[in-house]
Amino acid sequence: MRAEFGADGAAGGVRLWHVVRGEQSVAMCGRELDPGAPVREATDWGRTPELCCHTCGAYFLRETPYLSAEHQ
Ligand SMILES: [Zn+2]
Repeated sequence: MRAEFGADGAAGGVRLWHVVRGEQSVAMCGRELDPGAPVREATDWGRTPELCCHTCGAYFLRETPYLSAEHQ
């Protein structure tokens, strides 16, 4: 997960959380994010005080069964 800042940039705090693959700066929904923006573990999805991107959420939930299968 990587944060998207609001109109005020980092000073305005996190506006939305997106899902990114690894350390990429482009979210699953196609949004380009600040490479310096904070990141969190994907397991924090839905547990942040800030909102999560709905589009990323849809991709993430659809892909998660496959991702976890790879690690078995
Ligand atoms: Zn997104």
